[in-house]
Amino acid sequence: MQPLNELTITDARMLLDRGEISSRELTQACLDQIQGLNGALNAYVGVYADDALKAADRFDIRRSDLRPLGSLDGIPVGIKDNMMLQGKPCTAGSRILEKHVASYDATAVRKLLEGGAVILGRTNMDEFAMGSSTEHSAYGPTKHPRDPERVPGGSSGGSAVAVAANMSLGAYGSDTGGSIRQPAALCGTVGLKPTYGRVSRSGLMAMASSLDQIGPFAKNVLDAATLFSAVQGQDSMDQTTADEPAFVPEWKKDLNGLRVGVPRAMWEKGGIEKRVLEQCENAIQKMREAGAEVRDIELPYADEGLAVYYVLMPCEVSANLARFDGMRYGLRKEALPLFETYVRSRAQGFGAEAKRRILLGTFALSSGYIDAYYVQAKKVQTLIRRAYQKAFDEVDVIATPTAPNTAFKLGEKLNDPLGMYLEDVFTVSVNVAGLPALSMPCQTDGGMPVGFQLIGKWFDEAGLLSAAHVLEQRLK
Ligand code: GLN
Repeated sequence: MQPLNELTITDARMLLDRGEISSRELTQACLDQIQGLNGALNAYVGVYADDALKAADRFDIRRSDLRPLGSLDGIPVGIKDNMMLQGKPCTAGSRILEKHVASYDATAVRKLLEGGAVILGRTNMDEFAMGSSTEHSAYGPTKHPRDPERVPGGSSGGSAVAVAANMSLGAYGSDTGGSIRQPAALCGTVGLKPTYGRVSRSGLMAMASSLDQIGPFAKNVLDAATLFSAVQGQDSMDQTTADEPAFVPEWKKDLNGLRVGVPRAMWEKGGIEKRVLEQCENAIQKMREAGAEVRDIELPYADEGLAVYYVLMPCEVSANLARFDGMRYGLRKEALPLFETYVRSRAQGFGAEAKRRILLGTFALSSGYIDAYYVQAKKVQTLIRRAYQKAFDEVDVIATPTAPNTAFKLGEKLNDPLGMYLEDVFTVSVNVAGLPALSMPCQTDGGMPVGFQLIGKWFDEAGLLSAAHVLEQRLK
């Protein structure tokens, strides 16, 4: 049998239910892998070996009555360091929260615990989820598992590497502009950003509250569906969660009747790696062979997605990060007069990227500029949403590359913020419109992973995952 930590959740679940393996063995296999690799890769910034093994033992006792608490019962997973787990540090990759201990469970985390999932630890991330390489973490960069000189993408780079390097069976991240899909693409895992309102944001450290959404990293599409199911649902603690019928997977054998839209103008942008285009074209061809009807579509305002995002997001960041002032949470650098305490705590606590965005957002919201920037961006957001709405009158899913490139070198874009922001060209408009989208590996040439993005209709994760599942089989 293959090493236990390399199992998919679907296979592990079956073996656990049959009593052929124990959750302790499974958990130990992941912990061993972490022990062996984390020094080099820095995917986890906190590992909870004792708690994980205890949780695994509770499952193994419970299993004997053959009633698992849920589909993740006994399954070891990682969570991003911006999801609160009561009693454990939660730093959002920031120095300013180095000593912050979560005082309650995020709703998504509570659902995992209640469902019996085994939480292995918290995974590394760009500070407050700002970045596309995990180099903006105060706790050192995460490295790509296939080439430690390269980045894993970000901001949820730790979660992507935890799954790609078999240091967990699944993991969770958050996606505000692409932070699940882009690292999934660069590391060769499946990553799902659910529809805005599907998963509660209660207990998720806010970056841009109107765009943030929690979602899974998985080894395949079936596992992504299982991980997503476990955390979805309306929540009284988050008034933006939607009163929609729960996601239930509907697997199909082919793509007959599926209309796939390809926004050609987006694909033909300069700056996209040739190999990325080729591999994504191949994926489109496979969808055609599976019965899909592929057509070119127009997606007006898609180009404006990045500009809108980089106005709205910093505005929300500047408001959300105002609470970290050295008084209630984390780092405090005392000085007199009191004002100096705020200044020093924030100056020493925040990294360069966080500061850049706080400044940008504060500027865009300030009197005299708010109409020109924030209000204008909100208007264009409506246009982007309408453009998608119109596109979805004609097609069921929209396909694009996930990122314009494969994993780049550490340091390559670190001093080029604009270059780093361009990593998000295919992903951000999805958040701006609140849509669900996933990234799946599509390379068939044995090279570095290439991500293929499918965007679905609002709350149609079932259709999205089902299409991805068929394509996944065809790409094998
Ligand atoms: N890379 C994007 C940014 O830096 C997305 C981040 C995210 O989704 N959290 O803002």
